[in-house]
Amino acid sequence: MRLDWQYETCKCCTREQRVAWTTDNKLWDRVVIDYFKTRTLCLECFLRMADDREITIRLNEIKMVGLVARDKEGK
Ligand SMILES: [Zn+2]
Repeated sequence: MRLDWQYETCKCCTREQRVAWTTDNKLWDRVVIDYFKTRTLCLECFLRMADDREITIRLNEIKMVGLVARDKEGK
C-alpha cells in the first residue's frame, strides 16, 4: 500500500490516474509493450493493451492499492 501516493499521469493516454493499481509482474510483462514496461499506465490503457494481445484480464488479477480522494491541488 503506497500511502504517500498522490497522483500520477498515464504515460499512454496522459490522463491523471486517481486509482493506483497493481498487477502481477508476469502478467504486466505479457500485456505491456516494451516502451511502457517501466512507465505508469492507467487501468484502461492496460486493459486495451491486453485486448490487443487477446489476453483476458480477470478482476482478481488487478489489485487497487490507493486512490486520490481530492483533486491534485487538494481543494
Ligand atoms: Zn491511460
